[in-house]
Amino acid sequence: MKYRSTRSTETVTAAEALLRGLAADGGLYLPEKLPAPFVSYEKMRDFSYQETAVCVLSRFFTEIPEETLADFARKAYGSSFETREIVPVRTINESFSMAEMFHGRTCAFKDLALSLFPYLLTWAKKEAGEDRQVLILTATSGDTGKAALEGFRDVEGTNICVFYPSHGVSPLQKDQMQKQEGDNVRVCGIEGNFDDAQSAVKAIFAAPLAPEEGGDAVVFSSANSINIGRLFPQVVYYVWIWLSLVRSGSIGQKEAFNVVVPTGNFGNILAAWIARKIGTPIGQLVCASNENHVLSDFFATGTYDRRREFHLTKSPSMDILISSNFERFLYYMAGSKETAEAMRLLAEEGAYTMPADVMARIGEEMTGGWADEAAMAAAASDVYEKYDYLMDPHTSVAYAVYSDLRRKGKITRGTHTVIVSTAHPYKFPDASAEAVHAEVSGSAYDRLRALADVTGIPVPPQLARLEDAPVRFPGTIARDAIADYVKAYAGEIRKGRGQR
Ligand SMILES: *Cc1c(COP(=O)(O)O)cnc(C)c1O
Repeated sequence: MKYRSTRSTETVTAAEALLRGLAADGGLYLPEKLPAPFVSYEKMRDFSYQETAVCVLSRFFTEIPEETLADFARKAYGSSFETREIVPVRTINESFSMAEMFHGRTCAFKDLALSLFPYLLTWAKKEAGEDRQVLILTATSGDTGKAALEGFRDVEGTNICVFYPSHGVSPLQKDQMQKQEGDNVRVCGIEGNFDDAQSAVKAIFAAPLAPEEGGDAVVFSSANSINIGRLFPQVVYYVWIWLSLVRSGSIGQKEAFNVVVPTGNFGNILAAWIARKIGTPIGQLVCASNENHVLSDFFATGTYDRRREFHLTKSPSMDILISSNFERFLYYMAGSKETAEAMRLLAEEGAYTMPADVMARIGEEMTGGWADEAAMAAAASDVYEKYDYLMDPHTSVAYAVYSDLRRKGKITRGTHTVIVSTAHPYKFPDASAEAVHAEVSGSAYDRLRALADVTGIPVPPQLARLEDAPVRFPGTIARDAIADYVKAYAGEIRKGRGQR
């Protein structure tokens, strides 16, 4: 299957799309044509998560042989997940279930895509005849960096370098990064914020290395959520959630279910929308935002306007004003010419408006909503009290939006809804303590132990293990030293080439 850009008719192979990430015209890659609906309960009723992955991914990566995909799925979705179901679906009552996407290595949903992506990328490298080592450069505000490090660690032919804002991540997130294991990883704090790290990394992509700087041995790539290698693995779990709901009797075989997704960069919810396109019976699809509700305003008004105050919230992975993957959805709703124009306006003027006919189409596909910090906190403690279930702040935003829509009669009565649960609550010890009305103090690990005493939820070994692990990457550098840091690492890889 060929891939095309959202902004023009440029087409490339899947391997090229995986390696490049971004199209030459600045657009994002999409399949030239989405596969016709093909998922079927009769056919898939006994499928494991891994078999579901092969069934779905083989339609998007038609060039990768099925047995190769099966090998990738087996390696990606194995013992690094805490549960055999990979994404367990907990049905709370007849109205709603929680799809737990936090049982991977870093306790966040990004593990689902980033466990598989390195295999897709190394396949693409081979397919494209690229024999240089890949060096993944990633700027992170927290979750992506760690999930990418875990995904790429010790994957042959790849190396990864992550930059995080030294003062902008939580103590647990800092430990997750500074104590990273693996022979092919580098992690470095920077004096500056996430945008500084991101701009420095983008500048390096724009200026390739000279051969003597390592350019003859190293090719840069990114693990960013706009890569198709991250998007399609996310489609898999929506099909899986459907199979799980039918198997458990939470919905009937012919019944649809709603999905509420806590949204930042729009990758996760776009995957749900694609899952519906390939036949998963998703009824209402709800895009939940926090106080940075640029998307829910767009759904309400037809104007996407990023010229607004930026709020730092307790759901930091949703603190985003430019949702990159939204461009893909816009392409399907409005076409490539309108999308290219909207993206130009967004870059140059900070806003764009879609006409009424496009908005009518969008309204048929998706609903938006948002919750402020108080509603988020209230949702977390309500659900804990009523159902003895602890949600992280991102999931709590989604639940708050869901219960608000339900109260207003905007969720069809008698239908079942899945709340997408994107992070383990213990990644956010303070918000969790507030939700269960517990006093906790001491180090992050002391807080987690205190929480475990109160809630009975054990501390995930992935987090507990960090406490005594040695710090490997304590360093912090100035933001203008990032380029030299990368060059030095590329030089090392060049020297070590052939040894690994
Ligand atoms: C990344 C992230 C999100 C947002 O997902 P998008 O695909 O960017 O919309 C939500 N919750 C958590 C915990 C995340 O890490």
